[in-house]
Amino acid sequence: MRTADSTIGIYVHVPFCVRRCPYCAFYSLEGVAPELLREYPELLLRELELRKNTWQGQRVGSIFFGGGTPSLLNPLDVKRLMQAFRAEFQVDSAAEITLEANPGTVDEQRLADLCAAGINRLSLGVQALNDQRLIFLGRLHNREQALEALRFAKTAGFLKVSVDLMVGTPLETTDTWDREFAILLEYQPDGISFYNLTLEEGTRLARRAQSGEKVFLPHDEAVDLLLHFADRMKAAGYRHYEVSNWALPGAESRHNKHYWNRGHYLGLGPSAHSFSGKRREWNLPTLKLYSKALKEGMLPPNQSENLGIEETRSEWVYLNLRQDEGLNLVHFKKKFGSWPQYWKAMLESISAQGLGSFNGEIFSPNDSGLLLADEIAARLLG
Ligand code: SF4
Repeated sequence: MRTADSTIGIYVHVPFCVRRCPYCAFYSLEGVAPELLREYPELLLRELELRKNTWQGQRVGSIFFGGGTPSLLNPLDVKRLMQAFRAEFQVDSAAEITLEANPGTVDEQRLADLCAAGINRLSLGVQALNDQRLIFLGRLHNREQALEALRFAKTAGFLKVSVDLMVGTPLETTDTWDREFAILLEYQPDGISFYNLTLEEGTRLARRAQSGEKVFLPHDEAVDLLLHFADRMKAAGYRHYEVSNWALPGAESRHNKHYWNRGHYLGLGPSAHSFSGKRREWNLPTLKLYSKALKEGMLPPNQSENLGIEETRSEWVYLNLRQDEGLNLVHFKKKFGSWPQYWKAMLESISAQGLGSFNGEIFSPNDSGLLLADEIAARLLG
């Protein structure tokens, strides 16, 4: 049965960005105050110290520095945090250690130093290889800087380099993307993620949309574009292993798969989530509150929820349908006792609509099915 392995994942949130991108609703502080950046690793170590009784000694299969902009961290601080993780946990020798990097914040030396600090997978926020679109997305970098970062990342010594792209601005056509794509593939990234531009409440992009500006490709055109990418990606040897994620065989993100298979994880930093199988908790949402709690010697979790059988079942269905391995009814039965009889007819009908294949036991979504994974799950769960 496909289950999470027995290791845990560690997520480290780094809530700083040089400048806020107009579409982004993640928690981060805009502008980089050097004293806050210097103090932040101390806070993370303090949180680790307070939490270690619960998690100490566990085997760690992956660590992920996400943000925000983790590439703003001093590589020496990354090294110090890695030493602390190794001291408190059994970090697998083959653990995947990822850091998200913004191309506008790295140079050759910084990437080499991050690699030397223990990072073995770099996730590069390229977003586009077109200057007009990078300006629209409010990114720090231009096309040339993105390519330079990619070049440096490939030579720095990381085991894996993956690239994030943003799809769905009004400036995109298959022709413009094909040209960018051909260049990107010359660098052979191990993974490529396509994220759909979405309108998040309270963002500058949402305000621009409210004032009548066209900020999106029409939905149908965005779907056509994603399906066009799917053909190009498959032709280049990549596997569509999750809704937004593609990888060369064997280069799938271990950390992300751990989340999708409901593995346990410890989250450090403001707004970071932790999950221990039945209980999910999340930290205080801002750096100010997080820092105040820790300085008063208190753990920073803000809220938590206990997951009952219904939530667990529903989460399991959603997460499995978001992966190409799909929904396995035998596994579902082993875990939850039985599955609703009407599912078989429903999965046959979904397959007949061209969204995947069903052999009576496993429903495997195809590219179109993965793009509609949440809708399929909602149909099954009524
Ligand atoms: S760099 Fe990333 S986290 Fe920071 S504002 Fe932009 S999209 Fe959000």
